[in-house]
Formats: sequence, C-alpha cells, structure tokens
Amino acid sequence: MNLIIVESPTKARTLTRFLGTKFMVEATMGHIMDLPKSKIGVDIENNFKPEYVVMEGKEKVIKEIKKLSEKVDKVFLATDPDREGEAISSHVKDVLQSNNKLKRIVFHEITKEAVDEAIKNPRDIDVNLVDAQIGRRVLDRLVGYKLSPLLWRKVRRGLSAGRVQTVTVRLIVEREREILAFKTDEYWEIFATVKQLNSSAVNSKFIVQLIKIGDQKAEIKDQKTAETVTNELKTASYAVLDVKKREVRKNPYPPFTTSTMTQAGVRIFGWSAKKTMMIAQRLYEGGLITYHRTDSTNIAAVAIQNTREFIGKNYGNNYLPPTPRFYKTKSKVAQEAHEAVRPTKLDTIFNFHRKAGYSFSISNEVESSAKKLYELIWKRFVACQMAAAVYDETTIDVTAEQVNSLTVKLFNRYLLRASGQIMKFDGWRKLYQTEIETEIEKLPEVQKDEQLTLIKVDPQQKFTQPPARYNEASLIKTLEKLGIGRPSTYAPTINTIQIRNYVEKEDRAFKPTNIGLAVNDFLIANFPDLFEYKFTAHMEDNLDKIANGEIKWTDVILEFWNPFSGKLASVQDNAARVKIETEKLGKACPECNEARLAGDESRQGELVIRTGRFGKFISCSRFPDCKYTEKLVEKTGIVCPVCKQGDVIIKKSKKGRKFYGCSRYPECKFASWQKPNKGDIKTDNIS
Ligand SMILES: [Zn+2]
Ligand SMILES: [Zn+2]
Repeated sequence: MNLIIVESPTKARTLTRFLGTKFMVEATMGHIMDLPKSKIGVDIENNFKPEYVVMEGKEKVIKEIKKLSEKVDKVFLATDPDREGEAISSHVKDVLQSNNKLKRIVFHEITKEAVDEAIKNPRDIDVNLVDAQIGRRVLDRLVGYKLSPLLWRKVRRGLSAGRVQTVTVRLIVEREREILAFKTDEYWEIFATVKQLNSSAVNSKFIVQLIKIGDQKAEIKDQKTAETVTNELKTASYAVLDVKKREVRKNPYPPFTTSTMTQAGVRIFGWSAKKTMMIAQRLYEGGLITYHRTDSTNIAAVAIQNTREFIGKNYGNNYLPPTPRFYKTKSKVAQEAHEAVRPTKLDTIFNFHRKAGYSFSISNEVESSAKKLYELIWKRFVACQMAAAVYDETTIDVTAEQVNSLTVKLFNRYLLRASGQIMKFDGWRKLYQTEIETEIEKLPEVQKDEQLTLIKVDPQQKFTQPPARYNEASLIKTLEKLGIGRPSTYAPTINTIQIRNYVEKEDRAFKPTNIGLAVNDFLIANFPDLFEYKFTAHMEDNLDKIANGEIKWTDVILEFWNPFSGKLASVQDNAARVKIETEKLGKACPECNEARLAGDESRQGELVIRTGRFGKFISCSRFPDCKYTEKLVEKTGIVCPVCKQGDVIIKKSKKGRKFYGCSRYPECKFASWQKPNKGDIKTDNIS
C-alpha cells in the first residue's frame, strides 16, 4: 500500500477514481505550516531565519498523515507544481521527520497517464523552489509587519499594506489623476456616402472617410472649418483614384496562460479574476484541464499530435496547417508549470456532463460556469492549432475636386478612403468566434477612374477621450507587461486591494478611494524607490531566480531590507500625519446643530462621507470631537424589482463584497450581486 498526499480533497477524489486499491490519498487542506499569527516570526538579526509553525486547526490532519504514513510502503508528495505546492510538500516532509519512504512527484494534469508517469519518475524536494516560497513569504511579512504600524500612526488605525498591492493601487491612482488632468479636444471626422454612377447593383453604395486635404492630413479642429469643407465636398465631383486588394491572413491566438485566461474571463463572461481562477481550479482538480497557474504557452508534443489528428478528422484537412504551431515562451521559473492551460482530453467537450463518476460542483451556478470556462479553454486550445483565417482586404481611394470649364481648380483636392474586409476562409475562426472583431461592410467592385455620385456628406463632431480606468482585464495585462504579476498573484492581489477598501469598482472599472489615495501618496512620498514599478518587477524576478537556483533567498531579502529599514525610522519620526480627504454632503451635523441651538457656538460640524474598513459611512466633520455617524445609503435610482416600493441600494456583504439590496430590508429580502435591470426579479443568496 502507498500513500499519496495532495492539498485539496477534490484533487484527492479525482486521484482515487483512477489509482486503484494500491493507493490511499490524503489531503492537507492547503498549507499546514506558516509564519506565526501572533508575532513577526522572522529573526532579522539572525539572517532572517523564519519560524514556520503548524497552523491552527491543522494538528488533526497532520496526525492522520503521520498515522497513515507508518502503515505504507511509500509516501508520494503530490502537491501542485509550483513554489507554494513545493513548500507544502516540504512541510509535510518536516512533520513526518524525513523518513526515506518519502518521494516528491509532480504532474501538470490530474490524469491517469500523467500520474502514472510521475510515479515512475519521483524526485526529492526541490530546495530552490521551497527557498523561493520562503523568500516571498519573509519579504511580504517584513513589509506588512513594518508598514502597518507606520500607517496606523500616520494615516489611520487598522490599515495594512503589501508590496505588490501597493504598486497595483499606484497604477489605479495614477490613471485616475491622468483622467482628471485630461483636457478634452474637439475634432471632426467627415464621411461621404457615394454611389457608382453606372451600376444597378444593390450594394453600389459605400461610405468613404476624408483623410487628406491637398497634401495635408485632414485634421479638422472646429465647426467653422468643418462647415467649409463640407460645403466644398457637397459640390465636388467624385472619382475612384485607386483600388488596392490584398489577402490578409490572421493567425489564431496562443493557448491560454493564467493572465490571458483571466482577461478573457473578464471580457467574455464579466467574471472577476478570482472567479475565473476558482472555476479553473475546479476544472484542474477534476482532471479536465492542465494546471491553471502558468505563464507558459508551450504545449506538450503529444497534445499537439492529438489535436492535429482531431482537427483533421472533425474539421477536414484544409483546417489543418501543414506544420504544428509552436508558441514558444519560457516560463519564468523552469521548475514550475511548463505548459499552457489546455484541456487534458479533447473528446470531453461532447460528453461533459456524462463523464462517469464526475462531479466537481456544489451548485448549478458553479456547474454552468465550469462548463462555460471549460468550453472556452477547449476552443481556444484547439483553435491555436488550426489554419489561419483568410480575408480579402480592399482599400478604395476616392478623390473629390471641382474644376470649372477652364480647368481651373476651384478648391483643394480632397482624398477620401474606404476599407473593407471579407472573410473568405474562416480557419480557426470556425471554432473561436467569441472575440470576433466587427467586420466592415462589403465594398462594391469599382474600377480605377470610375466616376461616382455623391449621396450625402456627413460631418461628425468628436472629442478626444481620456484614457480609460483599469478594469480587471486591463489591470492584469498591465501587471504582466510591467513584470509585476505572476500566475499565482494576479487574482489575490486584485481581491486584496478591494477588500482593504483602497480601490472600488464603478461600472466594472477601478477607481481609488480616499483611503487608497492617502495611503498611496504617503507610501510613494516616503519610500519612492521601493514602490517603483521597476524595482517591484526586479524583486519578482529575484524570487524567480531563487527558484531557478541562481541566487540565495537571504540576498534577495537584504536587497529590499537595507534601504527599507534605513528609511523606516526616519519616516516614523519625521513624516507628517496624512489627512484622508472626505466628501462633503452640504448638510449640518444634526448633533452639532442641536448643541449650537442650545448655545454651544463651537459646534459647527457638517456631514461628510468617510471610507472605513467596512465601507463608506456618514460622519461629522469634527470627528473625533463629535462622534455622530449614520449609515450611508447609496442609491442606484432603480426601483426594487421585488417589492416595487423600495429603492435598490448598494450594500456590502460580510466578506466586503458589493451587492445590491432593497432599502426596505428586512421587510423586503431582495438581494443581487449584479445591478438589476428594470424588470429583473432574480434574488441571490448573500451571506
Ligand atoms: Zn457633529
Ligand atoms: Zn424591495
């Protein structure tokens, strides 16, 4: 008998399904050891020696593992293939006091073939990967433990800050200020609808856009110029100057990584990164997809081979490119996941629900989300090995000019252009249409020098737009581009900065709260170098280098700790206390008002909105001298869809997540995660 140790019960169940009777599988339920809760647990004087202790509530599972391990021939440590997984295995080894039955096995998909292969090739614990986890844990512990008391003294009690979270909030703050500083400019775009002179075809009409006036690029900044140009265009003669045709081939997207998968989850399903990762974890633990925390787009050779056969058989050979497509990216950490996120088997899409003995979901909502995400991963992956989509692209250049009988030009020659694209072979688009770009209307067949008639001129006033606020997708994309995010950190980072009330979502996009602004400005002003994007990226690289065995974890800590601790004391002593901006409501504080009427002229408080640890509330501007507070009701302007009397208001769940409820609660129980549309009557279960 052998024992396999994993971190999750779902993963354990999947393994039990195909491993047979020679194996017992036991789950640790996540980490079993961590730094202590009650103290810093890092001996700074002694080379940052960490003190890992058994986590609260884990004594029972450790006892069970110990008991089982004594009865078996071999113990396989089969936690996830990354630094956190390696650390869990290492901690299990520590509590079992390294008996020689112990072996580490690693697989990137929970399938019989992959696990059998892993059992045939066991290895020892990878000390470098474990060190990378220690380095990350100690670094974040030092930052958290040292910054929090500072923030309590200088900004507000109860605050905390992290290394990667701080730069993520910084991105959102800087974007907000860019938007506020943005000066919008007027500009005009002028379109003309023209028609072939001698054609009876239905689609002989097409729209051209003004691109040049004389030899100059058409840049029209005001209404007066737009009117002059429009008037001249109305009296001009139109002719085709040139027709260009070319074939455009569009290759498929690479298969998903954690970053691109979570971005697609936001764009296509409107899911948070946290939700996409939660669903992906279930699919991985159920054996349906490869490991979902990965920065690699590599694909196993055998998977490519199977996919090519599948495409040829199911879609035909014209959908199969002559050679396989390789998406070469190197994982940052050689020892971690080597592959893109892909389905483990291609046939499962067709019998997803009938998969024997398969159950990974506790609710219909999760079940249907899992199916949606699985199908997306499946399509994206199969499409990545399919033939290119082929388009005919046509560009028609049209001139507009006016010449009198003496062939004297009366005004500038205008150049206008139409571009169109027609798909002539769908290729991978047959499968992956989810993010299809809008296609421009088909253009008629026209000849060079052909005369055209004008139908109408359409001048359109436009305004330059400020950059958009980050949503979860663009934030993850930016974090990846700057080298700040890692597959294991995107979702937790984005979640944490919301729970801490440093940023909030408005129409799915992030804006900083007043606390977020205050903490950001304080940290950036006092630790400018440490919360630079480049330095944060450099530290993340260093953690990867520890995993690759290139540097020592203590050196990485020192590189941060020396400048950080040097600054800490002087900031503690010298930095000014920060005031958190409040929003005035324009009403007097009722308590102050009463006191003033009773003769106390010092009571001049007015009501302001503050952001506390549990969200926004109304209080007196004279706080802490006046303690008046009231609940802030954020109205949405929508009438409650259930009782049709109350207002739909914004509330926060116990876990800090925003939801929509009825102002007549508890009389009316309406609650929904999504902003209701008028006429909706869905009620969510919110705890
Ligand atoms: Zn007051
Ligand atoms: Zn109601």
